[in-house]
Amino acid sequence: MTDQADRINTTAEPGDLPATDEEWRARLSPERFAVLRKKGTEPAWSGDLLHVDSAGVFTCGGCGAQLFSTDDKFESGSGWPSFTRAMADGIIEEHDDRSFGMRRTEITCARCGGHLGHVFPDGPRPTGLRYCVNSLSLEFRPSEG
Ligand code: FE
Repeated sequence: MTDQADRINTTAEPGDLPATDEEWRARLSPERFAVLRKKGTEPAWSGDLLHVDSAGVFTCGGCGAQLFSTDDKFESGSGWPSFTRAMADGIIEEHDDRSFGMRRTEITCARCGGHLGHVFPDGPRPTGLRYCVNSLSLEFRPSEG
């Protein structure tokens, strides 16, 4: 996938990140902006990253932070990319989300605050968690070699 997110310096410090909606809008495609910055949800089964063919890392579509590994990806049947855990502690933040008459746990990128999706307590072993993530919130970086 080649879009504006590819130009982002993945080593950027938080101070280098856009600060306003206007700045984010200039950096992201309209579809990514709607999900990452406005907490939108892509239609189920629509995402480019539902199935990937090689091993690699999923980075934040907003800032490039490394968030998930193909090692932890599983087929949930939900229509969105699903993972049993984040790549490291502290890179994903959780927030109580009571929108749409539901009580869910929203997940966001700890570096840029971008909306990723939700985490549910109905995942497989070893964590029992299901990180349900929009493809539009992610970029896939296949492993070298
Ligand atoms: Fe981010």
